[in-house]
Amino acid sequence: MQFIFSRVNTTIYQAHGEEWKYINSNGQESRSGHEVIICPHVTAWQDYLRELYADVANETNADAMYIDVFGTGQTFFCHSPNHGHLVGESPLRGEYRMTRKIRESLNSVRSGIPIYTEYTPVDFISQYQDGSFSYTIYYGDNQTCPTETNLFRFCFPDFKQIELVNGQFLARNWTAEGLKKAFFNGEGIWIKGDLGSWYDAQIIEFYKKSHELFQENSDAFTSNALRPFAKTLAGDVFAHQFGNGDKMIFTFYNANWRDVDGDLLQIGALSDAHVVDLWNERMLKTVASQPDFKIQTSLFPRDIGCVGVFKKKMDVRAEKGVLFINIADKYTSAVLSLTGILDGERIVQTYPSLSSFLTIELHSLFPHIPDKLLVKLKKDRLVLDEVILENLNESSHAEVLTWTSY
Ligand SMILES: [Zn+2]
Repeated sequence: MQFIFSRVNTTIYQAHGEEWKYINSNGQESRSGHEVIICPHVTAWQDYLRELYADVANETNADAMYIDVFGTGQTFFCHSPNHGHLVGESPLRGEYRMTRKIRESLNSVRSGIPIYTEYTPVDFISQYQDGSFSYTIYYGDNQTCPTETNLFRFCFPDFKQIELVNGQFLARNWTAEGLKKAFFNGEGIWIKGDLGSWYDAQIIEFYKKSHELFQENSDAFTSNALRPFAKTLAGDVFAHQFGNGDKMIFTFYNANWRDVDGDLLQIGALSDAHVVDLWNERMLKTVASQPDFKIQTSLFPRDIGCVGVFKKKMDVRAEKGVLFINIADKYTSAVLSLTGILDGERIVQTYPSLSSFLTIELHSLFPHIPDKLLVKLKKDRLVLDEVILENLNESSHAEVLTWTSY
């Protein structure tokens, strides 16, 4: 639900609108059609909205509540002499008191109703809300900040940013580059309207892929252990680290107009780990023990990458169409998800109950042996460990060795 404008035909506007409305430095109101901006400093308006938000939450059982316009910060300096604030004062104190009152009233209805605003609020106000839209990619300066990163996302990891990608709320304004940067920065994307009918096939595919990666690795992406702009080993290649310990997810952005290939990021000592290029679905490395491991992969020009470093919880190998999997005892209550990819078609099969040693005939799961097989050990939709196998039709000894070298 959203209220911050008041429509001129409402009872509240007719009773108080002229008195409460925001006035700019020329003494004018701010009107868009039938909507007029009301000054957030007005105490009676704060109290009115406090009641209204609670009533709506009660009546509709809404999942979340929205406060439009808030967070712009420096836009609406109200010049009315009748609102109890300094003439020309910034809206911040008004937005602070209003947001706090709305938070308290919603808490009295039900705890945990998320509040989000149109813009990222100042840090102090953010304590009363859960997230906001972000226009960073729309307003960001590509020249000085090629990744168009909003550092607020990293300073306050529990505050959710939903990127509008290219502003104006129109799907046709979206660009592939904007979507990629939103993913690189670990931000949600706002889908306006119906995904299936409003957007083209490429955007739908991008959305599904990025959404799945966010969901399967939400433990890392929502972690407080973050390292924005981790130092990289290639010029004009940027990286963020999400999570630490058993799972580290790295997103990359190549700001060059050329491919990069090779060492991208130094991790240091690493042992018992699977390193997977999650974006391109390629196995990069199984690491037994290395004193100074570096992530090595390739990135297209102006493109993104995503690499997962998983503490090894299973051994996987394939031989002559048969999959052999050893799972550490501690994780046999997890689920095994097998995604077979053949000529771009994906088939997902799930094993809900596991023993520590599994032998799986691929023919029993897939009509044809897939070109590529994603083996994911999952718990509560989160990926605990992942291995990607390719060339499953071949049974050369060398290939098997690749996957059993640890
Ligand atoms: Zn005012």
